[in-house]
Amino acid sequence: APETVGQAVIPLVNSLQDIIARLDGDAAAGLELPQVAAIGGQSSGKSSVLEALVGRDFLPRGPDICTRRPLVLQLVRHSAPEEWGEFLHAPGRRFHDFEQIKREIQLETDKEAGDNKGVSEKQIRLKIFSPNVLDITLVDLPGITRVPVGDQPSDIESRIRTMIMQYIKHPSCIILAVSPANADLANSDALQLARLADPDGSRTIGVITKLDIMDRGTDARNFLLGNVIPLKLGYVGLVNRSQEDINFNRSVKDALAFEEKFFSTLPAYHGLAHCCGVPQLAKKLNMILLKHITDMLPGLKTRINAQLVAVAKEHAAYGDTVESAAGQGVKLLNILRKYCEAFSSMVEGKNRVSTDK
Ligand code: GDP
Ligand code: MG
Repeated sequence: APETVGQAVIPLVNSLQDIIARLDGDAAAGLELPQVAAIGGQSSGKSSVLEALVGRDFLPRGPDICTRRPLVLQLVRHSAPEEWGEFLHAPGRRFHDFEQIKREIQLETDKEAGDNKGVSEKQIRLKIFSPNVLDITLVDLPGITRVPVGDQPSDIESRIRTMIMQYIKHPSCIILAVSPANADLANSDALQLARLADPDGSRTIGVITKLDIMDRGTDARNFLLGNVIPLKLGYVGLVNRSQEDINFNRSVKDALAFEEKFFSTLPAYHGLAHCCGVPQLAKKLNMILLKHITDMLPGLKTRINAQLVAVAKEHAAYGDTVESAAGQGVKLLNILRKYCEAFSSMVEGKNRVSTDK
């Protein structure tokens, strides 16, 4: 099954991203790896979607601006029953309590962006280790707003748009364009930005949230079928937790059960099982991600080799000082190359299996 292969291959990509994050600007340039970014208007449900994919509560969510720094979230599947989170800014410290992860995100947000609704483009990087996740890297971004509040500068809208574009412009970024079902899809900030970054729609998944609070007598069937705004990769419709559910501490598990019941009982969604619900979104993502990685591999190898040659030359010029920056660069790039090779052989292995069938 392609999912299993994806789960085996993607941890390598995650390690690669960690190393790249530690390289300095020059060395890291051009080595962007696939990530999944959730974009959309403020309160469209981006953080809720990402949380549902992870299956745990840990992201600040709410009717106000909550996500004020990009959060790069690496999900790492492992076989032990334990679940914990670890931040890049606090290496070695395991957060077993997901409430505490939420608090740490809020503290780190305030540290960079102040405590009065300010927004910063400096990333928070968090790894979640769990037996219940798919291995993917997700990015939660601040939502688009129009009217500055609190400490926000007067050009907040264009600043946030620019920040979002920095993530989604990369040809390897998979875009979750999140739009709430209770607003007109033609007004969707998410779809508008996604189209700018990905004009042919080859890496944009439409996510329609809040199907449960549409105007009575309406449904999202035509949105989901792509009859309103067509999208190559299609749409997935979701029902996540309402603010009341959050206030009453309803669990993710209950929310998933509620969602399943919602779709199976409403006649409007019959025959649309392939594009309804969080599990379908996870499945779609994993398959798209694997294809992206496979397509990108030859180019990535070439770039790493070119950089290795350049850094090795610099290293030679400095002589044998292992402590020099160039020496460190050679070490890192060699690690990168090994990852890339391991990666290729796994993907080639996978291709063999699929042609055998
Ligand atoms: P973000 O600003 O895009 O990250 O949005 P959040 O995930 O923080 O959600 C904003 C608000 O909408 C919260 O109060 C959520 O509880 C609520 N919400 C999100 N998704 C749904 C949904 O599918 N149905 C309902 N009823 N409420 C939702
Ligand atoms: Mg958010």
